[in-house]
Amino acid sequence: MNFPPNTMSRTRLNVVLSQAPGKHPAKRALEESVAAALIMESGLDVSIIPNLYDLGPDHTGRMFLEGVSGDIVVLCWHFPRAAFWLLDRIGIKGHLGEVQLKPPREVDEDEETEESPPAKGIGPTGKIPDRHIYCLDLRDFKTPDPYLKEIRRISAECQERREKARPMTATFVDLGLPSIATAPSLNGTSNGTAMAAFTPEKLLVEPNRRWYPVIDYSRCTNCLECLDFCLFGVYGVNNFDQILVETQDNCKKGCPACSRVCPEQAIMFPEYKSAAIAGAPVGAIGGLKIDLTKLFGGDVKDALAMAVQERDKELLGDGREAVGMSVGIPKRQPDKDQGPKDDLDNLMDDLDRLGL
Ligand code: SF4
Ligand code: SF4
Repeated sequence: MNFPPNTMSRTRLNVVLSQAPGKHPAKRALEESVAAALIMESGLDVSIIPNLYDLGPDHTGRMFLEGVSGDIVVLCWHFPRAAFWLLDRIGIKGHLGEVQLKPPREVDEDEETEESPPAKGIGPTGKIPDRHIYCLDLRDFKTPDPYLKEIRRISAECQERREKARPMTATFVDLGLPSIATAPSLNGTSNGTAMAAFTPEKLLVEPNRRWYPVIDYSRCTNCLECLDFCLFGVYGVNNFDQILVETQDNCKKGCPACSRVCPEQAIMFPEYKSAAIAGAPVGAIGGLKIDLTKLFGGDVKDALAMAVQERDKELLGDGREAVGMSVGIPKRQPDKDQGPKDDLDNLMDDLDRLGL
């Protein structure tokens, strides 16, 4: 159907809520109140899936996500940086949507004084579809209102972007009325009957808990130090010799060792207790917004010692021999552009001087 050129086209915005694992009552209550508020909003397709991080390749929730086209807002219990790269790893690709909702904990005078340095990583691989992915952290607020407000803003932003991209063609008009709940979207879906196979029952099957690293490719420089360090076959390279988390489920549950040896703080374990390792924003205090002592759980100089200890524990658990510092300890790449030294570089120099 065609409409006059000045008719406003409107496409619905996909909003996916990723549940917390387990049945934590306060988390469930917030999820339910957010979902209830969202389905009353016009122009949104709201869906609920289990914990994003736990979705294996065969889980219906993952297949559902793969079928979602267009811009997406993902509400989950992870840092947005971790959620975005987690989605990228499983093929849910797009441009990073800038979120303006600032968590209360980020209002920190000391940390806001410096701008983050531009990311110097290799960036995402493969073709990036012309859409944006916005990730919101459900740990930031205890009520639905801030999320609702931000999603309205994002919806308007996406709409404006689409209209700028094709100002003269309008093929669909959404009258903006809330519709009766259908599966999988709670309030109707712009993705049509192809998505109707994903019933809520299948979609919400509780997946097994998983544990694996997620790489932030906006930071990763492909130094391959993680590949050398991990002795459990988790990492590999793609056809372009770029690092990837190849065999996710080979990773040892609870082990964050390689995140401590990555020179760029590009390796995240989204469910690790320390915010720095779980994917908190990286900024510009000595190269890292996060205090390095938080990243390493104590004295900065203990970083590699901790990583080696964690790796040895897993090796022994597998009935193998501990290797200590003798294998895969990061060395600065001889042909890599050095740039100004940061805290981590100084740490490496200290360890080199100690002969470790
Ligand atoms: S150690 Fe970090 S920067 Fe180097 S390849 Fe691995 S993830 Fe990328
Ligand atoms: S956490 Fe341990 S097992 Fe998992 S990828 Fe890193 S070094 Fe390998």
